[in-house]
Amino acid sequence: MNPSLSNRMPVSLGNRDLMVSEKEFPPVFALKAGMLGRCPRCCQGKLFEGFLSTSKSCSSCGLDFSFADSGDGPAIFIIMIVGFLVVGGVLAVEIMYQPPYWVHGILWLPITTVLCLVLLRPFKATLVALQYQNDARQGRIDDNASHNE
Ligand SMILES: [Zn+2]
Repeated sequence: MNPSLSNRMPVSLGNRDLMVSEKEFPPVFALKAGMLGRCPRCCQGKLFEGFLSTSKSCSSCGLDFSFADSGDGPAIFIIMIVGFLVVGGVLAVEIMYQPPYWVHGILWLPITTVLCLVLLRPFKATLVALQYQNDARQGRIDDNASHNE
């Protein structure tokens, strides 16, 4: 591949396919793009069109979001973080106040649900931004690799 083209990505803008240099965009802090739910390249356009479904492309820079697949990553982080907070909270309340079990249910079920829903979107956007910045994708077999090495 021509090294001068290695930092250029194809961008679809309407009916035209353009080559846009990554150098035209200042570096984006992945956590900032994630917390704001913005495009990982320009940090201007919205990443999501639904609650968790990504847009087809960035409305600002035209970056194709078809690469965006965070898989189970956000859910795993949220299970760990929310689980740590809620189990710690349950234990603290139980040790300090010894309330009946129905109080735990009324208290912790809504807190758990709200925490999961609030954190899911920023975590997904952050992982998509990290996926974009690190060019991460699923592993695949390279058919062009030499088997004699
Ligand atoms: Zn963008």
